[in-house]
Amino acid sequence: MRPAAVRGKLLAGKISRADRMCSYDGGREVMCTLSFIPNSQGFYIGMNRDESVRRVTANSPEVSYRDGHGLLYPAEPSGGTWIGVNDTGFCLALINWHAVSSHPERPLVSRGTVVKTLIISQSSDQLFPAIEGLPLRRMPPFRLIAFLLLERAVDEFRWNQIELSQQRHEWEARHWFSSGFDEPAVQQRRAKLCRTAWDRPQAGSLNWLRQLHASHSPAPGPFSICMHRKDAATVSYTEIVVGSGTVLMKYHHGPLCNGSTDFVERIISLHKEKMDCTRPQSGRKLGVRH
Ligand SMILES: [Zn+2]
Repeated sequence: MRPAAVRGKLLAGKISRADRMCSYDGGREVMCTLSFIPNSQGFYIGMNRDESVRRVTANSPEVSYRDGHGLLYPAEPSGGTWIGVNDTGFCLALINWHAVSSHPERPLVSRGTVVKTLIISQSSDQLFPAIEGLPLRRMPPFRLIAFLLLERAVDEFRWNQIELSQQRHEWEARHWFSSGFDEPAVQQRRAKLCRTAWDRPQAGSLNWLRQLHASHSPAPGPFSICMHRKDAATVSYTEIVVGSGTVLMKYHHGPLCNGSTDFVERIISLHKEKMDCTRPQSGRKLGVRH
């Protein structure tokens, strides 16, 4: 039974083409910069993690196994994570949501447990109840983005401390942005930067994706995608390549601009057949869930 204050909604939102390409969400604060680029084989994901410079360095991704799934994710020393992918090509990324007032119950539960717990999921139908099963009331607000390879869909789950909502996005390129500094301006500037970048040759390639996530336009600082502030900065870049029978995660310690070309690489085989039996047999109804 769901907690009374946790009410689920499925929202069939209409999104403009510009917002599909570069959504900045009307001023809603999120942390990090996340890019998604689908292709004929699978997809690319790039994620800059922007954090306090005082935060302890995270550990590189390792291959692990749970409930019959191969898993890839970097991890905080505490074990939590912000991005992960499993061997069905199911990927989750979590971004904080600071625009929503945070008043979780005590004791707090780290949002780092969300992706780590749910990364063994296989379909969007499993996710909503699985998220509801988490101790949400003890977590600050967050947005969880699920990339569903065989469903060819992107689901965004939002926990605002009152309700959990879900919005389905098209299977097409999209970016999510954030900053703790003048975030509406930051998001709009980064969205504009992305729109401009999509007009360049090789747009959508892996090299293009890395160049985008290393971008210092208009200047190294709070507005740039590769973010640099006194108190916070881009602390890592995670790249996921799903397709051609493999799931590859590349992890770069520090921002892409730091002069290092070293990536930690981990790879697992892609097993789409694991997910086939869980695919919906008919279209899902979108409506309010009670
Ligand atoms: Zn930089």
